[in-house]
Order: sequence, then C-alpha cells, then structure tokens
Amino acid sequence: MSYKSSLKNPIFSTISEVADELNFPTYVVGGWVRDLLLDRTQTETDIDFVCIGNGIVLAEHVAQKLGKNASFKVFKNFGTAMLHYKGENYEFVGARKESYRSDSRKPIVENGTLEDDQNRRDFTINAMAIQLNKKHFGTLIDPFNGQEDLINKRIRTPLDPDVTFSDDPLRMMRAVRFASQLNFTIDKQAMLSIKRNAERLSIISQERITEELNKIILSTTPSVGFKLLFNTNLLHQFFPLMTKLQGVEIRNKHGHKDNFYHTIEVLDNISLNTDNLWLRWAAILHDIAKPQTKKYENGHGWTFHAHEFIGGKMVPKIFRQLKLPLNEKMRYVKKLVTLHLRPITLTKDIVTDSAVRRLLFDAGDDIDDLMTLCNADITSKNETKVKKYLKNFQLVSKKLKEVEEKDSIRNFQPPIDGKDIMTLFNIEAGREIGILKTAIKDAILEGTGKNEKEEALQFVINKAKELNL
Ligand code: ATP
Ligand code: MG
Repeated sequence: MSYKSSLKNPIFSTISEVADELNFPTYVVGGWVRDLLLDRTQTETDIDFVCIGNGIVLAEHVAQKLGKNASFKVFKNFGTAMLHYKGENYEFVGARKESYRSDSRKPIVENGTLEDDQNRRDFTINAMAIQLNKKHFGTLIDPFNGQEDLINKRIRTPLDPDVTFSDDPLRMMRAVRFASQLNFTIDKQAMLSIKRNAERLSIISQERITEELNKIILSTTPSVGFKLLFNTNLLHQFFPLMTKLQGVEIRNKHGHKDNFYHTIEVLDNISLNTDNLWLRWAAILHDIAKPQTKKYENGHGWTFHAHEFIGGKMVPKIFRQLKLPLNEKMRYVKKLVTLHLRPITLTKDIVTDSAVRRLLFDAGDDIDDLMTLCNADITSKNETKVKKYLKNFQLVSKKLKEVEEKDSIRNFQPPIDGKDIMTLFNIEAGREIGILKTAIKDAILEGTGKNEKEEALQFVINKAKELNL
C-alpha cells in the first residue's frame, strides 16, 4: 500500500522499536492518518500516538532513544506526554475508555483497548489507526470504515451521533469545521443529531468554540461552514447577532439583499485573495449593523444609514463575547468595518485629490486591505452591475496609486506637532492646540497647505489670528 512509504520517517521506526521493547501495542492515530490517506499536505506537524499501556512511559523511552535533541512534557491530568523533536510535536497517550454521565461534563476515564479508544473519537475518518509494532508494522485498523467515508467525503460518527455529540458537544463544531476544511458533507443522521443537540454547545467554553470557528473561517470556502452553522442552529447558540443578517423583507415590491448570504459570499470572495484571519473577520462583520439600521424610506427604498459606523462600534463587544483578542487585531477589524464604504464613495465621476488623500490618511497602511475588502464586497446577481462596479473599483485603485505616489499621504505625519505650537505661542496644552493641529492636517489633505515645517508654522500663526485664539 502506498501510505506505507510515508511511514519512512525514522521517528516511526524508533517508536516501533521502543514499543516492542516495552511490549506495548502502539499505533499512529487520528488526523495524521486521515490526512495521509487523503494525500493532503499536512497543515500542522502534530502526530498522535496511542498505545495499549502507559503513554507517558512510552514517550519517556522514545525521548531517551532520540537523545538530547528531544524534549518532552508530561500532562499528568490528561495522562498524555508531548514530545518535541526537530520542529515536530508527537503526542502519546494510553488507549482509554471514556464514559459520560448526563449530569457531568467530565468523563470517567479508564484504561481501555484500542477499540475503546477508537469508539470515543469524534468521527470515523479520525478514528483510524496504523500499527507500528514490527510484526504488524503499517497495518491499518479501521473499524468504522473511515476509508469509505473518505472516498464518499462524509463526516460520520463512530457511535450513535446522539451519544457522540451529547458526550462532548464541541464535536458538533468540529463536524462543521472538518466539513468546511475538507469540503465534506455531514452525514444525514449526524446532521439531524446536531440540530437536536445544538443547545448543548452552551456547556463548552467560548474559547474552544472560537478556536474551531477560526478554523472554519480559514478554510478555502468558509461559506460551506457558515451555512452548516446556520442550518444546524449552532450559530444561533454563540453568535446570534450574525443570524439576524438572514432574511429578506419586501415592501412595495422592493426587497433588499439577504445580508447573511451576502456576507458569506463576501467572505468567500475575500478568501480567494487573503489568508489573513483578521481581514476575513472584517468581511464577516462589515454589514453586522445592517439589521438595526434598516429602514424603508418612501421614494428611496431600503436604506442602512450609518451601518458602517455603528458596525465599527459593535466590534469590541463582539470580540469580547467571542473571546477574540482585544488588541490591535480588534482595532484593525473595527477600522476596516468603519471604512468599508469609503472607497466606493470615490467612484463618482469627479473625484477630488483631497477626497483620495483623506481616505489614504484615514486608512494608512491598511489601505490595500481595505481595497481587498471593498473588492470582495461587490456581489450582485446582476452581471452588468458587477461589471460596472468592478470598473469603478479599478478607477479608484488607480487614483489611489497616483495620489499616493504624488503626495505619500499613507504614513503622513503633520510637519509640526502640539509641542511646536506650544513653543511658538508660549502657551500650555489646551483645546487651542487641538484645533490648530486639525487645521494643519485639513489644509494639507485639502491641498491648500504644503507638508513642510516653515509653511506650517506660518499657517498656524495666521490661523490663530483668524480664529482669535
Ligand atoms: P487537525 O488537522 O486540525 O489537527 P486532527 O484530526 O488532528 O485535525 P486534533 O484536534 O489535533 O484534530 O485531534 C487529534 C485526534 O484526536 C482527532 O483526529 C480525533 O481522533 C481525536 N479528537 C480530538 N478532539 C476530539 C473530541 N473533542 N472528541 C473526540 N475525539 C477527538
Ligand atoms: Mg492534529
């Protein structure tokens, strides 16, 4: 079998020898085996091993054999050991049997057989094991026919899905994550079971949910995952705000876009051009305030006034609730959401250089990402419209380049700062300083003042007189 050639990595023969010495039946198991059979480039270099015996003892002996380049860490509470060697992580665990009681999340864990261990895994495609002991080296043990599910691209649970999902509800998120990452379908019974058990997600910490969510977002076509999250009601459990985007209201024969499907289309679009998780998050949140800003105005139809500002303001709270980082990543997403309509307002026939300079100033180094978002936001069923928008978008891109080359506003710093103004007039800090600073910035962005120190000082003197400051 072709996969055997992948077991050439010397780590496997080392583990094989140690396993025989200790007389522990030992297997490589889980995601690595799945990806191997899928011929999938391994996204991460974690490999999981399970043995009938003590996983920590096995890891200790393997580490000894590998010598001083190997380091390892024991997680006593979990009965696992992590070995680090030549940039790769190897996790060792003894086969276990888990039984859950309905009133507790914590399983009772006991030593078990390989079969017990495979039974407690999340999906058939993740439950395959390859034996490493010399006598059976390379034998695949696939009790639930995971191989067939790989061929049919199907996510199925080893046990009754109600048992698998209710025991550990995070597995429902993982089902969607694998479906989205691998472009698989979730088996019908499993799908029905997720719908039945969706509410049990509430016992899982938001951090773990978000970890899976981010993996969904980073998959090639994230809309696959979001449609599943929506259809199973999982999304309603942890991100109800996003579900509010769904639906179309019709008044006087005018409908608006379904903003949920629009949003995930924008997300797919942007994913063709970026792997930046936070830029993808900006796509998810760009229209988040549309439901609450929606109005039907006679003569105009549907409007969503200020949804970009209100949406931007909502970002910190959403990040807090979803346990996303509250740092510069959040500020970046907020900025992009707030600015997402600005490039489009520059598509009018006459665009002044000053409007372009203002956008460059406000977006700074994130201007390219903002343009990527804006480009992804062009979705319509009407092809002529899309063509027209794309053409306008290209015009704006060109204009931005021209103005940036001419004026280099992107990292613009005013030629004089507050201190300079205080020294000039020999005054203390106060509101006048702010007014004058804004006036300089405006003059330069408007093109009525030069980005140069002497001129800026003269400008401030005149301005102060003019304003009677
Ligand atoms: P990835 O490519 O993302 O690492 P993976 O399948 O290796 O995918 P891990 O989270 O690394 O996923 O888990 C390793 C293995 O452990 C899985 O393949 C699965 O067999 C098992 N596993 C992980 N989490 C669960 C869970 N919540 N319930 C049951 N089995 C799990
Ligand atoms: Mg893994």
